[in-house]
Amino acid sequence: MTQSHVAIVAFPFSSHAGSLFSLARAMAALSPSSHFSFLSTKRSLSSFNSQQLLQNISLVPISDGITTPQARHHIEAIELFLKSFKESLREGLKAAELAQDCKVRCIVSDAFVWLTGDVADEMAVNWVPVRTGSPLDLYARLNADLIKEIVAVRSYGDNLLSFLPCLSNHRATDLPYGLNTGDPNFVYHLICDQMARKLPESDILVTNTIQGLECNLDSYFKQNFTNYFPVGPFHLLNPSQKEPPTDSYGCLSWLDRHEPATVAYVSLGTIAFLCPSELTSLANGLEASGVPFLWSLKEETQSHLPSGFIDRMNETGKGKIVPWTPQTSVLKHSAVGAFVSHCGWNSVLESIVGGVPLVCRPFFGDQTINTRLVSYVWKVGVAMDAGVFTEETVVRAFDVIFKRDEGKKMKSKMNELKDMVIAAVEENGSSKENLKRLMKIVCGS
Ligand code: UDP
Repeated sequence: MTQSHVAIVAFPFSSHAGSLFSLARAMAALSPSSHFSFLSTKRSLSSFNSQQLLQNISLVPISDGITTPQARHHIEAIELFLKSFKESLREGLKAAELAQDCKVRCIVSDAFVWLTGDVADEMAVNWVPVRTGSPLDLYARLNADLIKEIVAVRSYGDNLLSFLPCLSNHRATDLPYGLNTGDPNFVYHLICDQMARKLPESDILVTNTIQGLECNLDSYFKQNFTNYFPVGPFHLLNPSQKEPPTDSYGCLSWLDRHEPATVAYVSLGTIAFLCPSELTSLANGLEASGVPFLWSLKEETQSHLPSGFIDRMNETGKGKIVPWTPQTSVLKHSAVGAFVSHCGWNSVLESIVGGVPLVCRPFFGDQTINTRLVSYVWKVGVAMDAGVFTEETVVRAFDVIFKRDEGKKMKSKMNELKDMVIAAVEENGSSKENLKRLMKIVCGS
């Protein structure tokens, strides 16, 4: 019999839902007598396969807010979803309670759907917000007023943000788009801004990181949230999966044919994309470097590659270009020696777990903060000099990582971070222990 019914609410865009689903699986495995209803849009739920479901998790679709069938731009789809979110959530929760014949006792949600806090209040149940992306980015958002006050009145440029203890090695130029530069009405910025205003109402915060990974951050969050739970990386909390990863394009067998630490893996995550000229620069840089590469590139973007590039790479065997890879397994493969990335938070964590130095080309959101963390604070990666890919910067970055002493130091520092992260998710490790503490709030036992 179900002792506790917990609702988990996803933000159904980019990698957010997948990341939260990893946490949901870990919770469900720890509390077999509880039931977990995972709420997201139909489209986002369709990316989970039945192998990933435990018996005590059910998927509950909620409306995407789209009333006419025409194709939507990503940003418009987010706006529509948020517009009807509260109503959709109330309906989804009712359906979940009916299906389980059990009232929801606690609502865990992606902090991006911060309106969940209001619905939890209406139902008089606990709200547990989860920051799936970079915690350092959340720190910047929580300090947005101070940043705007100081950075706006002084010309900061490349000076360090020494007035912020957790960002004292970052520059104003590393702050997220929208917070300090660019359009403050950009939907991602608005979500983050409102999230940062709502979160202090909660005394609980869950993050996808480990204790001690980012300097001073634990003490800041502990001071501001009575119940602070760094339980990451979420994807490592899961009970071991017996099935091999889905590898529809044969990426892992292609990697098997390469010597250790000789291949570059390229992926810019689920939403970032390059304009055709920068795509060409990256392709030319990869080819000119002579480093074999595996590139995750959406089919519709592949058609913008320089003519003959894919055929040439196939014929020489120098490059494999596929629309999707099993990235966590790719980064753990011994052949991979560098990761060309947009520095989304999941990608950064997965690179640490693989012990692979990064080549960083950030776009928006938390990616600029993460890039500075990787390249300057941790010194486990190379940032593109001009902020964008050019043939020369790609060749130079590979030269550093694959051939120079600096690259060897990056690898060894990355292995130190990897050891820390693996220790945190072992039995009695900090993330495992924090998760057990969190479960007492979520399930009441
Ligand atoms: N990913 C993957 N295969 C690919 C490309 C991406 O599995 O070919 C996954 C990757 O493992 C990561 C997520 O997509 O978990 C991307 O998340 P991240 O936070 O790095 O970036 P976002 O997509 O949110 O910008």
